[in-house]
Amino acid sequence: MDRSHITMAQGAGGEAMQGLIKEVILKALATDTGSPVQLTDLDDSSVVGDVVFTTDAHTVKPLFFPGGDIGMLSVCGTINDVSVLGAKPEALSLAMVVEEGFSADDLERALTSAGETAKAAGVPIVTGDTKVVEKGAIDKLVMVTSAFGYRHPKLDENFERVHITRQTKKQWLTDSNLGEGDVIISSGYLGDHGIALLSFREGYGFKTPLESDTAALNGLMDTIINVGGVVAAKDPTRGGLANTLNEWAEKSGIGVHVMEEDIPIRQGVRSACELLGLDPLEIGNEGKVIVAVVEEAAEEVLAAMRSHPNGKDAAIIGRTDASLKGVALETEVGSLRVMDPPIGDPIPRIC
Ligand code: MG
Repeated sequence: MDRSHITMAQGAGGEAMQGLIKEVILKALATDTGSPVQLTDLDDSSVVGDVVFTTDAHTVKPLFFPGGDIGMLSVCGTINDVSVLGAKPEALSLAMVVEEGFSADDLERALTSAGETAKAAGVPIVTGDTKVVEKGAIDKLVMVTSAFGYRHPKLDENFERVHITRQTKKQWLTDSNLGEGDVIISSGYLGDHGIALLSFREGYGFKTPLESDTAALNGLMDTIINVGGVVAAKDPTRGGLANTLNEWAEKSGIGVHVMEEDIPIRQGVRSACELLGLDPLEIGNEGKVIVAVVEEAAEEVLAAMRSHPNGKDAAIIGRTDASLKGVALETEVGSLRVMDPPIGDPIPRIC
């Protein structure tokens, strides 16, 4: 890692960011709290006593984009990080740093959106902070949201169903929980958020206009946990599916085998990626969850996901495979290639 200056890649969710996290951030901040899920686990949230807690900073550019805006994104992203660990989010905080000269109408628009999104998701914003900095000190507006929640009331039953098949390392839906025979499900189309934002920002004007998938997933997670048999869940944000599956494979110590033809990707995203030389599996999402489920429960979980508006395009995309190391992608022509973790996100500032 370059120790003299911070680079964009170090904030992009891939390998370069892992270097910054492990060599600097954890070294400075980590303390062993004795909790089953803590900072050093690098999961979506941490567990503190009976509370699940998380925080996110949002620097998306532009602030308003097709399918969402910074206010909606901030609320959804944080609700999702609490939800995918197996908790029910209870309340949010929202802090903002505003650049002097920023449009008051735009600030109101972003905050109204945050408030409406929080209300619709049933997770109120209960505290916050506002700072204004001089022109040029930041780019317009930064929002920081935190949330806490409690263990989902059905999470114990969810794991009882898992434990009929096998034991798990953790009793939360963590990255380290995958084991032999698990089925991997995507809740829907991948790559929409990053590509919608990039094409809008750069004015590409693709034939099919794409919208961000930004959505709060606490309702969908509720549906999934109620079925039971889920071992892990993660929202594939920066670094996309490739990053999610590599984190799972590494932390769980098991290979993952995915089928390219089964991964839902819209034609518009596919074409844009081909044109721009991007891999849709490395593109960030803001309204999708990847879940690992014991085989016995997979079809039932899939059906439940499809019955929910945020999971109607859900699909089984792969399985764990103890004979593999890392992530293998079986291509449409039947060859197997390594799906490496992305170095950095190819599209900066999408969240
Ligand atoms: Mg996350």
